[in-house]
Amino acid sequence: MDIANPSDEHQMLRDMVRDFVDEFVEPQALEYDRDEKFNLELLRSLGDMGLLGLTASEEFGGAGLDTVAVAIVHEELSASDPGFALAYLAHSMLFVNNLEFNGNDEQRERILPKVCSGEWIGAMAMSEPDAGTDVLGLSSSAVKNADGNWVLNGRKMWITNGCIDEEDTPADVVWVYARTGTDQKGRAEISTFLVENGMPGYSVGQKIIDKTGMRASNTAELVFQDCIVPPENLVGSVGDSMIHMMANLEVERLALAAMSLGIARRSLDEMNKYATDRSAFGHQIRDFGQIQRYIGESWAKYRAMRSYIYDTAVNMGLGKAGQRLDSDGVKLFATTAAKEIADAAMQVMGGYGYVAEYVVERLWRDSKLLEIGGGTLESHQKNITRDLSKSPEVINK
Ligand SMILES: Cc1cc2nc3c(=O)[nH]c(=O)nc-3n(C[C@H](O)[C@H](O)[C@H](O)COP(=O)(O)OP(=O)(O)OC[C@H]3O[C@@H](n4cnc5c(N)ncnc54)[C@H](O)[C@@H]3O)c2cc1C
Repeated sequence: MDIANPSDEHQMLRDMVRDFVDEFVEPQALEYDRDEKFNLELLRSLGDMGLLGLTASEEFGGAGLDTVAVAIVHEELSASDPGFALAYLAHSMLFVNNLEFNGNDEQRERILPKVCSGEWIGAMAMSEPDAGTDVLGLSSSAVKNADGNWVLNGRKMWITNGCIDEEDTPADVVWVYARTGTDQKGRAEISTFLVENGMPGYSVGQKIIDKTGMRASNTAELVFQDCIVPPENLVGSVGDSMIHMMANLEVERLALAAMSLGIARRSLDEMNKYATDRSAFGHQIRDFGQIQRYIGESWAKYRAMRSYIYDTAVNMGLGKAGQRLDSDGVKLFATTAAKEIADAAMQVMGGYGYVAEYVVERLWRDSKLLEIGGGTLESHQKNITRDLSKSPEVINK
């Protein structure tokens, strides 16, 4: 059995995405990274293939697929263009998947068809200028008005798809976490709001430029200034968002780990080809023991990350929290492994590896974000250690 393609349907999905990537993603990747711009039309075109609503219900235009499919699509897109894959993740996982599993019927019916088709581009806004890992430290707040509307105030930082073009057009719809109260222990009570472009007080503060990597995705600061949100755009009940926030972070971490796998696979492929094509001192460089160490260790790491990622995917249900040990474990391992494999590829390819045309320098830059976004390495270490103290029996299962 191939753990990464457990059914014919999964294999067909992989083949379809790989063909699409060869034809449409790879030819534009270098240019969009160099010019630091986001290929909005290419993202929209994934709607025609059913990929924008990968895990959403079919009745609302989604594909109704599972977590293995999530890993496959992110791996394949990232093997060519991790920046584009990140924009896809922000839309399909951080917004669409969140809405599918945590929105109510009316919200799903109203919004899912638009985001599944690509008519609307979505984003998720959790991080703030002064609160990232410490999510309960967020200060954006929402207060209910006498007329029943919510008034949202605050700034959100680092939001992928926060702006969708060079004219500071904000995401069509953004999933915003805000403080709506304080519990008896003094901790923030967090609620979720669906903010749509055109709602008064919602704008782009700035597009964040000069990023190290992931330059083909737009990252923005979003501003909510007395932003009026109608009551029907509150998700769930007031103050109960921590559970669904945690559930969605788990699938996000799996998808980010799968993006790491795409980077690792491509880097390995590039270094392996180069080691055959390049000769020095009358030998192919793959004959040298030091080069063999880069290739051999990269292969073993790649295979280990692939197994752990797809094992986690096959066992992870969508829409429920409680799988943090492996969602954190797989991201902790795979992101650093991808960075190391991209680095090994660059070393094997010498000066050529350092130049954009040869791809791996872009993958090397993109890989670093995966150790930070969606949870830092340190947050995964902390979570794993805490979860193993609560459930030590899982070690000997
Ligand atoms: C390109 C990009 C895209 C992003 N996209 C999004 C998005 O779409 N939506 C969104 O909401 N956010 C997004 N983010 C934000 C990202 O999730 C945060 O950057 C990340 O969670 C870390 O938060 P921070 O940057 O505030 O760092 P901090 O939380 O301030 O961390 C700084 C350092 O302190 C460490 N640290 C913090 N607390 C502890 C602790 N208790 N123990 C040990 N060490 C600790 C961290 O691990 C890190 O090393 C994005 C970020 C980037 C760069």
